[in-house]
Amino acid sequence: MDYNFVSAAKCSSYEADEVKDAFDRLLAPLGGLSFVKPGMTVAVKVNLVAAMKPERGATTHPALVAELCRRITEVGATAVVGDSPGGPFTGIYLSGVYSSTGMSAAGVPLNRDFDVERCDFPEGEVMKDFSFSSWLLRADAVINFAKLKTHGMMGMSAAVKNLFGGIPGTIKPEYHYRFPNTKSFANMLIDIDEFLRPALSIVDGVVGMEGNGPTMGKAREIGVLAASRSPYALDSFCASVVGLSEAGVPTLQLARERGLVPPVDMIEVVGDGADVRIGNFENVERSNDIEFFVGLVGIKGKVFNKIARAALSTRPKLKGSECVGCRKCEGICPAKAITMKGKKPHIDRSVCIRCFCCQEFCPKGALKVHRPVVAKILTKSGK
Ligand code: SF4
Ligand code: SF4
Repeated sequence: MDYNFVSAAKCSSYEADEVKDAFDRLLAPLGGLSFVKPGMTVAVKVNLVAAMKPERGATTHPALVAELCRRITEVGATAVVGDSPGGPFTGIYLSGVYSSTGMSAAGVPLNRDFDVERCDFPEGEVMKDFSFSSWLLRADAVINFAKLKTHGMMGMSAAVKNLFGGIPGTIKPEYHYRFPNTKSFANMLIDIDEFLRPALSIVDGVVGMEGNGPTMGKAREIGVLAASRSPYALDSFCASVVGLSEAGVPTLQLARERGLVPPVDMIEVVGDGADVRIGNFENVERSNDIEFFVGLVGIKGKVFNKIARAALSTRPKLKGSECVGCRKCEGICPAKAITMKGKKPHIDRSVCIRCFCCQEFCPKGALKVHRPVVAKILTKSGK
């Protein structure tokens, strides 16, 4: 089976019969789950970004996960479903997440192994040693089961971004700080995918998320399930579904530079969902790290670029009327750029690394991805 091959099946609801039929159409061109053998343990890495109900469109839907697990157990293998969202990687915390996201009620086997291991990956471009969730390393195979959403920092959250959930929640901010710009963070995500090498990646695009994603956007019916052996080919297809160019998804740009995925027109997509395109999908307006004064070197170049970046880069912006002063953003900010002033967060732009953790985890969606008007005029990327 070609690594740059994607299967896409239309699926308009999470009703059990439609899901079953869609999985048949989705997996047949990929040879089914032929890599799953009796006695194996298969880790199903879903997206459980936060304790949110399935209808919010932020998490992999439990009806799909239940169908996948049924197929894994049918061949005599054991499925284990899990994730490490932002927050403690503990049984107590995850029980709440499993319950809210509908995973407990779906009757799927849920991960209760919260060990963490140090890993070495000398082949990594930027991520050569890191801490990782043991349950994913102990499995015989990993299935990466993502959700199709907008993402403040990475433009899109789908297959490649989903494996960041292998990093335990409490230390994710440390990785944002270690890889503070778009390029290094995107390369780090690719390194994780290369390290873990999922046997299969699937994206739940039946209902995705548009707008202020990956947690506080709007649920949006898309109507497609897609799968591939390559998380990069799969994301390339997903980007085309929601109308994003490669330039709007840094992981795709860099994966191509690293020779991991060909241009979009060289990826073969089959199935009745291959032509699904959402013309008016509300993507986030992000911009790549900008070096405006590339000809200027030394201290002058540094100063000019710092000023230009501060004025023109995409950034989190507070909508004060929606903020309840809970201080969650202040606590989660890896750069310690947020202080509360008059019960509202104030962001020190000279310290902010634009990781969008505050936007992702604000429980009220009060922080938005903001792209300055001048940047919109000067650059064409990100939209
Ligand atoms: S997390 Fe959101 S609601 Fe809470 S203080 Fe920050 S901006 Fe306000
Ligand atoms: S203010 Fe927000 S975007 Fe900036 S570093 Fe802190 S969490 Fe990241």
